[in-house]
Amino acid sequence: MRFLHRPKRETSTTYRRPLTVAAPSAWSETLEALYPPACWLCADGLESGWFCSNHSLPQGAPAPCCRVCALELPTGLRGGSTCGPCRREPPAWEQLVSLGDYHRERGLRAGILALKHGGRRDLCLPLGRALARRLEECVHVSGVDLFVPVPLHPLRHLQRGHDQALGLARSVAAVLDRPVRRSLRRLRPTPAQGTACSESLWAALLGRGRRGHSRAANVSGAFALEEREARHVTGRRVWLVDDVVTSGHTVRECSVLLKRAGADSVGVLCLARASLSGHA
Ligand SMILES: [Zn+2]
Ligand SMILES: [Zn+2]
Repeated sequence: MRFLHRPKRETSTTYRRPLTVAAPSAWSETLEALYPPACWLCADGLESGWFCSNHSLPQGAPAPCCRVCALELPTGLRGGSTCGPCRREPPAWEQLVSLGDYHRERGLRAGILALKHGGRRDLCLPLGRALARRLEECVHVSGVDLFVPVPLHPLRHLQRGHDQALGLARSVAAVLDRPVRRSLRRLRPTPAQGTACSESLWAALLGRGRRGHSRAANVSGAFALEEREARHVTGRRVWLVDDVVTSGHTVRECSVLLKRAGADSVGVLCLARASLSGHA
């Protein structure tokens, strides 16, 4: 089995100042000789960056998509427009920003699966950095007050071993120098839209399957605002952070709670947007 090199694990220092930049050149060269740059997913050698060509993240803006829901727009509409469904029935959030489409972006999908189901919490660092860059491309960061991760239920946390939305939020917030507040709580476990393996494990834990349960019913009333957090949310421009947005029901529930608590606006920042027809 090949030696898997991973760059230094995340700390508050490495988020802001990568070791290769901060270290004197001799030290940096020694480190590179000992630990040559490698893809964070497959450990293939690299000239630069975080991922190899097979696992590269989307570069630049995704295909023309709706500013509000980030789903692809019909031909003829300019990117950044608002789609018909969002005009007729605006969701509870103002804007959704993602790195790309879950089904089309192979490298992004591989990273998300490793993060969610492979125990690779270290991926929060490069993926969070990419998310921060993407957000900077889409909005003026002075208009971002704080980040709130979509909460994970303690049972799910136990199953997964880490909270990927919280890790991503911390990574993004460290780059953009904004606070992270765990303002929301998940009241009951809800089946995730994940792999068949994770689904069956989760169904076994809950003692039931997903059949007959709509996603909207699953997440309805599944979240609450932490009471002590209301004063931190009121009048603030909040960005929810999650890994993948599929149906949008989860972020809708969370956005409604934040708006009720007085949030000035709510944005959604996620690694990928997935259409309902696929598997996320
Ligand atoms: Zn790779
Ligand atoms: Zn839309």
